[in-house]
Amino acid sequence: MAQPKYKIATIGSHSGLQIFKGAHDEGFQTIAVCKKGSEKPYKMFNSADEIIIVDSYANFPKIQDLLIKKNAIIVPHGSFVTYMGYQEVEKLKVLYYGNKKILKWESDRYLERQWLKNAGLKVPLLFDRPKDIDRLVIVKFMGAEGGKGYFLAKDEKDFNKKIKPYKLRKYIIQEYIIGVPLFIHYFYSSLTNEIEIMGCDIRYESNVDSLGRISARDQVALPKIDPSYVIVGNIPVVVRESFLPRLIEMGENVVKTSKKLAPPGLFGPFCLETILTPEEEIFVFEISARIVAGTNPFIEGSPYTWLKYNIPMSTGRRIAIEIKNAIKMNQMKKVLG
Ligand code: AMP
Repeated sequence: MAQPKYKIATIGSHSGLQIFKGAHDEGFQTIAVCKKGSEKPYKMFNSADEIIIVDSYANFPKIQDLLIKKNAIIVPHGSFVTYMGYQEVEKLKVLYYGNKKILKWESDRYLERQWLKNAGLKVPLLFDRPKDIDRLVIVKFMGAEGGKGYFLAKDEKDFNKKIKPYKLRKYIIQEYIIGVPLFIHYFYSSLTNEIEIMGCDIRYESNVDSLGRISARDQVALPKIDPSYVIVGNIPVVVRESFLPRLIEMGENVVKTSKKLAPPGLFGPFCLETILTPEEEIFVFEISARIVAGTNPFIEGSPYTWLKYNIPMSTGRRIAIEIKNAIKMNQMKKVLG
């Protein structure tokens, strides 16, 4: 039987432009699902062959039948999972690139930690109770809205003062690691079982990345400046080459462990969110089991994908190639979850 003509669909946000560009490069038609008013970039950059408007992303399941009729394959990204919640994503019937069962493991901070630890990675300490705080900690809220409201505390008293406005929210207390935050982007092929490094980035976050522009004297004089971690954009980084063997091994271990936790395991794009200390220790504070926005600077490819492919290769395009190969090899089951 002839293969249907598949289309690539996702929510118009996050890394949608990259996903659609990659899909076009590989000959797929694209569908952007947008909230009214957010469709402009997908028109401006000729990204979407079709735009479906929804009132709210929570209504995504309601347009599923339409997407199914159009032979759409959903490529999930960060906003897709955040807007819908992993339980809703798990229920989707429309074709979906990736392993849905792994989303639970990245969405729950405790499960995520277990995964990373099982993979032999170093993770920051967690403090169960505020009275245990014996060093600088970062307090993070569950269901992060891009780092909004996170705060630092140095002891229980400091914590109690700063938590007041957020009393009703769920939080975790994590050791604050001083070093360089580095985001490492990987791709694991479920067709060839090979892992690739697609690029690295650092995030630019407001206001923490601009505090250094104010002298310590002026910071002290101001009544209250707490750092916050609201992401504004991403900056490409090429890491010291001697770090690469460790970074590759970390990615391999995460994939290997995921096969036991949620068979058939993690595949496609993923990201390890790390901090590198002056002692060259690498702490992993988060894993994202799908494409992250830190791949967006590399729509034309990164230095690493250039080495491997010699043509512009974004993560979005790599996904499209994987889907195309699966179609050619009659192995769609291996890329759909
Ligand atoms: P997250 O919501 O976990 O991605 O964290 C948002 C931001 O907080 C990160 O991009 C880092 O800048 C910072 N951050 C998170 N965890 C830590 C940590 N354990 N130590 C130092 N900085 C952190």
